[in-house]
Amino acid sequence: MTKAETVAAQPTGSHSFQADVARLLQMMAHSIYSDRDVFIRELLSNAADACEKLRYESLKAPDLIKEGQPFSISITIDEENKRLIFADNGIGMSREDLIESLGTIANSGTRAFLERLNSAERGANGGDLIGQFGIGFYSVFMVADKVTVESRKAGSDEAWSWESDGKGTFSTRQMNLEDAPEHGTRITLELTEDGSRYASATQMEGIIREHSGAIAIPVELIAKRGSEAKRITEGVALWRRAKSEISNAEYHEFYHALAGQFDEPDLTVHWHAEGRQEYTALAFIPGSRPLDLFDPARKGRGKLYVRRVLVTSDANLLPGWLRFIRLVVDSNDLPLNVSREMIQESPIFGAIRKGIATKILQELIRTTETNQEKFAQIWQNFGAVLKEGLYEDPERRDQIFKLARFATSKESEQKRSLADYIADLRPNQTDIWYMTGENHMRITSSPQLEGFRQRGIEVLLLSDPIDAFWVETAVGYDGKPFKSATQGEVDISNVPLMEGEAQTIREPSAKVASLLAVFKQTLDSDVADVRASARLSKSAACLVASANARDKRLERMLAEHGAPISISKPVLEINPSHELIVTLSDLLDGKNQSLIEDIAWLIFDEAKLADGDMPSRPEMFTDRLMRVLMRAATGHSQA
Ligand code: ADP
Ligand code: MG
Repeated sequence: MTKAETVAAQPTGSHSFQADVARLLQMMAHSIYSDRDVFIRELLSNAADACEKLRYESLKAPDLIKEGQPFSISITIDEENKRLIFADNGIGMSREDLIESLGTIANSGTRAFLERLNSAERGANGGDLIGQFGIGFYSVFMVADKVTVESRKAGSDEAWSWESDGKGTFSTRQMNLEDAPEHGTRITLELTEDGSRYASATQMEGIIREHSGAIAIPVELIAKRGSEAKRITEGVALWRRAKSEISNAEYHEFYHALAGQFDEPDLTVHWHAEGRQEYTALAFIPGSRPLDLFDPARKGRGKLYVRRVLVTSDANLLPGWLRFIRLVVDSNDLPLNVSREMIQESPIFGAIRKGIATKILQELIRTTETNQEKFAQIWQNFGAVLKEGLYEDPERRDQIFKLARFATSKESEQKRSLADYIADLRPNQTDIWYMTGENHMRITSSPQLEGFRQRGIEVLLLSDPIDAFWVETAVGYDGKPFKSATQGEVDISNVPLMEGEAQTIREPSAKVASLLAVFKQTLDSDVADVRASARLSKSAACLVASANARDKRLERMLAEHGAPISISKPVLEINPSHELIVTLSDLLDGKNQSLIEDIAWLIFDEAKLADGDMPSRPEMFTDRLMRVLMRAATGHSQA
């Protein structure tokens, strides 16, 4: 039997909801969430989506709709029976659509909601969370204890109904065509005692107005069965209206519907491009991080309309490093008579895509000038994503550098821009110094920075994983190259010491030089070199990468991702004026060979610990430490 025959053979059927749906429904029914109006927003947006889908399908198959019949959504109030009826003349649903769409978790907002419940808010009843996510269709069970969905898919000669009390199961049944919508969907809610306040025309009119800002299809209210319909909103696409006529509240409402996220956007950019390509775009930067921001599957997507026809909600309109932006674009120039895929391959689409990234970057740069506080928040949320553009889009690099904000070794309330950094260069400083690492606190207190601090040289502290990548490829900023503070030999001796800092680093004495040679021999299996350091002042030793090695952080990340990387040996740098080193160099007389070797290893392992690494061979580390401690204690008791 084919699928269609199977369906025909089962005119009615009872089905269980997917487990997650059942859970969600139970939550809806017991929700103490106060803003129940959201079910109206969800039903209106589904109805509008259905009309937009049919509008697009009918381009290829004009017979699907009657000529001259406009799309519309109506809400009928049956006060007597405590019912609400939502009807649309959109694309409708087949039996399979009903089972799939209204029996499983199809909607990503709903899934995100459940995940949040599972993790952070475990134990909470989810009440406050409902308002933050687009729960979708299932929100009807906050106000109804029985819901019937009657639908006929455009072009089909069958109509089906779906019915449920929201308690674990639903049933489907074939309908007589006379009783069904011509095409589209009719949803009847039997309101609960509590929900019956929605069966009031005055009440509903206000709520519809409030929730229809993002609905580009006209909405009508029928106050009583059989009475005349009253047009509540005209369904003019918001982005087509003049900016000056749109209130902030309308923009926000639109953003909520578009993003399925109920925070306030940090930035709203609405513009009309003219010239080579004519299009209108409306973009939002969310006020908080979407849950899937770092999901590799998340792409830079937007809603694409061509002359008011929704082509796809999933257009590749943004580069990956702008994937947090929520966006609608309505083009006047793109062709409508080709497939969705073809549209996105056209050079016009490419040009629009470029124009959008340019405009958004411009607006972000403008925000750094006009509203630093707001920009700091945007950077806090999305800086790590924007920085991906530094290596993915080299031609935008200089602009992204204008946005980039860094934690640095300078005591500062705010993060610093590269312009700030350049403005505060020390005399004779020619490089932009940086240090990468997993943990901000740890890099802040790294011994490797001591010499820089003595000279007041600012060091960028890069602790986002992405930093290790872009910094390798970025040539520099404002003519100054980026240089790692933990790689190769640094020469910062030209830069004067800050007031009160004593020159602690000297050329090693002959004895210290001999000690370093012994260290090198001892540690030969694990280090590339042992040398006197120009970057230490207080600490005895630190590890750095050799000049031609890759950044240690990058090396480690590549290795974690399975790249065939041989981790290169570090260089151990020793502070030749440190008391321990000077004292040890006095013991170089042959009698203390084993003590010096133990201490050489301990110094090396201690430097690894300071970098957040494990000693190279932990059991030997413990033995050595014990031997040296014993010796210190014994020496003390004899004295
Ligand atoms: P979402 O709208 O985010 O996909 P919903 O829970 O709101 O999630 O709806 C689930 C699915 O049910 C929709 O994707 C759509 O396929 C279908 N659907 C809901 N309402 C309608 C409708 N009025 N007309 C056609 N399809 C609908
Ligand atoms: Mg929906």
